[in-house]
Amino acid sequence: MDTICPICNGLLSLQESCPICGKAMEDHGPLTNFFGPYSPYREIDDLKMSNGFPDLVHRQCIHVGYCENCKMEHLFFIQELS
Ligand SMILES: [Zn+2]
Ligand SMILES: [Zn+2]
Repeated sequence: MDTICPICNGLLSLQESCPICGKAMEDHGPLTNFFGPYSPYREIDDLKMSNGFPDLVHRQCIHVGYCENCKMEHLFFIQELS
């Protein structure tokens, strides 16, 4: 069964707080956006296999959150919905 990331699909916004300062994180999109010259139309599972994380098994979408306060990026594992 296919699963979708609620954030990539606009159902939810990233609601994570910075693990360091506790402020709300800004969503910089899924991690797959940061890998190489991939087309956004390429199969998403393809991209996932390329990023080196075993997230395909767990059906999680890895999002990059950015804290303006700390000027740091953190990764969040978003559970996908079926
Ligand atoms: Zn996502
Ligand atoms: Zn912070």
